[in-house]
Amino acid sequence: MSGLFEGYEITAPPFGPQDGSELALELFGLVGEPLELGSHQDRNFRITADDGRRAVLKIANPHFGLPSLEMQNAAMIHVAAAGPPFGTPQPLAALDGSLIVAVERGGVTYHVRMVSYLEGSPLTDARHLSSEVRSALGAIAGGVAAALADFDHPAADRVLQWDVRHARGVVDGLLRHVDDPQRRSLVERAMAVHDAALDRLAGSLRLQVTHGDVTDYNVIGQRDAAGRLMPNGLIDFGDMTRSYLVGEAAVLAAAAVAHDRDDALAALSDTVRAFHRRVPLTEPELAALFPLVLGRAAASAVSTLQQATLEPDNAYAVGLIESDWGALTAVAELPSAPVEAVLRVACGLDAHPRSGEVRAFLDGGRFTPVVDTGGRSPRTVDLSVGSPEYAFGEWESREGVARALAVGSGELAVGRWGEARLHRSPRPAAGEPDALHLGADVFAAAGEPVRAPFAAEVAELRDDAVVLRHRDPDLWLRLDHVDPAPIGDRVDAGATVAVIASGSIPHVHLQLALEALPELPGWAVPSQRAAWLALCPDPSPLIGIDAAAPHRDATRLLAARRRVVAAAQQVYYREPPEMVRGWRQRMYDADGRAYLDMVNNVAVVGHSHPGVAGAAERQLRLLNTNSRFLYESMVELAERLVELLPHPLDSVFFVNSGSEANDLALRLARTFTGRDDVIATGGAYHGWTTATYAISTSPVDNPTAALSPPPGLRVVPQANTYRGPYGDSDPDAGERYAEHVRRCAEGAAAFICEPVLGNAGGLLVPPGYLAAAYAHVRERGGLCISDEVQVGYGRLGQWFWAFQQQGAVPDIVTMAKSTGNGQPLGAVVTTREVAEAFHRNAGFFSSVGGSPLSCRIGIAVLDAIRDERLVENAAAVGARLKGSLERLAERHALIGAVHGAGLYLGVELVRDRDAKTPAKQEAYAICERMRELGVIVQPTGDHENVLKVKPPLCIDAADADLFATTLDRVLSEGW
Ligand code: PMP
Repeated sequence: MSGLFEGYEITAPPFGPQDGSELALELFGLVGEPLELGSHQDRNFRITADDGRRAVLKIANPHFGLPSLEMQNAAMIHVAAAGPPFGTPQPLAALDGSLIVAVERGGVTYHVRMVSYLEGSPLTDARHLSSEVRSALGAIAGGVAAALADFDHPAADRVLQWDVRHARGVVDGLLRHVDDPQRRSLVERAMAVHDAALDRLAGSLRLQVTHGDVTDYNVIGQRDAAGRLMPNGLIDFGDMTRSYLVGEAAVLAAAAVAHDRDDALAALSDTVRAFHRRVPLTEPELAALFPLVLGRAAASAVSTLQQATLEPDNAYAVGLIESDWGALTAVAELPSAPVEAVLRVACGLDAHPRSGEVRAFLDGGRFTPVVDTGGRSPRTVDLSVGSPEYAFGEWESREGVARALAVGSGELAVGRWGEARLHRSPRPAAGEPDALHLGADVFAAAGEPVRAPFAAEVAELRDDAVVLRHRDPDLWLRLDHVDPAPIGDRVDAGATVAVIASGSIPHVHLQLALEALPELPGWAVPSQRAAWLALCPDPSPLIGIDAAAPHRDATRLLAARRRVVAAAQQVYYREPPEMVRGWRQRMYDADGRAYLDMVNNVAVVGHSHPGVAGAAERQLRLLNTNSRFLYESMVELAERLVELLPHPLDSVFFVNSGSEANDLALRLARTFTGRDDVIATGGAYHGWTTATYAISTSPVDNPTAALSPPPGLRVVPQANTYRGPYGDSDPDAGERYAEHVRRCAEGAAAFICEPVLGNAGGLLVPPGYLAAAYAHVRERGGLCISDEVQVGYGRLGQWFWAFQQQGAVPDIVTMAKSTGNGQPLGAVVTTREVAEAFHRNAGFFSSVGGSPLSCRIGIAVLDAIRDERLVENAAAVGARLKGSLERLAERHALIGAVHGAGLYLGVELVRDRDAKTPAKQEAYAICERMRELGVIVQPTGDHENVLKVKPPLCIDAADADLFATTLDRVLSEGW
């Protein structure tokens, strides 16, 4: 292994950019501008010719010798010939026809080559790597490994520091440069796992010529439509050597972890899964993979530190220290057996080689129940997200959880295995919570005996736990929250090994494990469910009751939905989580993850509001019937709405939805005026019914009408001062937009608009617009309809109704969404005159629009808005949030503008602030990433490039800040 470090301490050949450009001309006939590209040991210059052609001039470090350069050239040609779906540089011939030219300088011979230049940016330019990007990286590593499988070269057997086979040697050679004892111990821990695995497995790992350095430095990407750097090229064959085939995957996996340290397991499994699809890995290779990652990470970290010590002025090496040591910390913290299980599952294998054997043992065995039922019939308790035991945030406190358990004396309750539990993640957070329960619990009285279910060795005794070991099959059983009994080295089946300890919720947690894990976690992240539950199998047979929680699989649910629900019925997100519960401004998916809900203006007073739930429950027990009976709640709700509205809006109709409300509003106007035509703003959305759809020209929701407005619809420009013909700087913008209304008002039945442009992204219309437009319409005998479905109901903070922001009063107001906090309830409020004119023509009923149930809920919503001062909250938290978002706009060019007021805000994303090019794909990708980080937000607007921010009005300052910081993170790290 001599030469391992000499190679490292050498410095790059003494050539500058000017030399590079001279050599390019002299040897290759290429005239161009040189730019030095970073390299550890060589000199590389990118030469750009006048006509834009580019190539890379490479001056090799003489240390590495000619044969290795010949090998690289041959390999580049070989890989390209295999036709992989990614590019590689190709050697270019010099003027004399050769691919390598010798040059003398200071008595030393240097070998010079030129290779084609791959356009794009290295993946080091991206901070966060999405799952798709990681998969694409894995495919490249697998692709080059597949292409090199039949490649060989005499120079391949060389000793290189970067070869994963030499991690131990590198660490031994360089650990002396690591002074910090914590860092040393980190390296030692990682290397202990590495060594143990490699000692066992090295002989079974396939060897072949490898690229050896498929990392973010050497993978080149191009930006996709969403602005993400998508890998499509591989450069730098300078680290080629014959090594472990699986090393190609390990090197990449270690690099991927460095980008997403807090999601290291996903980074590993995404890259390895994709690699395995190209080059199926064997079981020993999968077992060695993570240990090789540890070795690679440790070797990189010590090498970086040494390099930085050698060259303190080398900013590149110094900069790497934090990233390399961070990555090492991230992988060294992962327990290796579960990682192997995760990687095996990712590659389609059983999570553990002994899974089948252990399953058969557990299924077929007869075991003494760990806690004697003593004539009691045990029952399972549901602590899942959908548990009926919980309401109104009870899971947020220990007392609440204890209440939900409420195990009576003499009762035996069993907490389930494989259950994603609600109380593990009360608040939204960037990381996935470890909500998955890997054992089962038996809740019983403190002091009750805990018995060995099978004859076993006593593997470990702690203050509060006993670990038993079964042999053949090898299996560990951990019994937690107990006071161990005095026992020896072995116990028989049925022996008392402990008693349940006293505590606020006395219980024994029992957990099986196929491996002796030093710190066996009781919980895991649900996304790695298959691996963890295989490693910690179902202990039901040791309890005597089926303690396995049913699994709710969002992917299966989505597939089922696609079979029975019309495809046009939209669903948010590419991989939608199954939403099970809501509470205040949060939603919870089946995996126990809490999300901050920034999109739900429907749940105006918050999800699962106790007042709303109580009112609904009471009314459902009393009466729910059609709306043509006489009952109090309809009158009360109508009175409350009229009280909130200005004179003369005093006559209420009840319906079920916004579409229905607008549909009825159009009928009222048409009946009153005896006219048909309607003026609506371009890009508006007013509903799905035939009449409302016909006046909706939203290019997203009604693309046909957007292209060619249907007869009877008169479209006026949206009073959008960001994108419309009259901008913010025009003091007469309001008048000018209103002028468009005037021009088409003659003979029209009605003018309908959202008084704050909700669907466009929450833009406030310019001052004077609504009053002027309404005046023009009324002068010509038409009616004015204010669609408050999205923007009304207190959301704007300062004004309960959005038209109030303009100091105008419409003839008809429509509302829904918030009105019922999710219960189907909408209303149309108009003047007595208009209502009576309608009645002269026909009566009106909507069977359950304004039902006793809906109206009770409607009243409870208004009570909550008043009692909890939610309008004031919308003003205060909205102002704070808008301020934070405006500050983000100062740092992130993608934010073109922040629109809105109160808690109806819009963050408009543009590729170019001057051209205002809508960043639609970016907006969708950002929303996906926000969801991964625990925040629900969606794009809106004609161009789908505005993040609509309209959370329940009970949102607090902390969650408003969480939204802003999460958006900041995504805009900073990428998506
Ligand atoms: N008007 C506006 C402004 C809307 O945004 C919507 C729905 N997004 C509707 C009406 C239709 O309401 P619903 O979906 O309740 O029928």
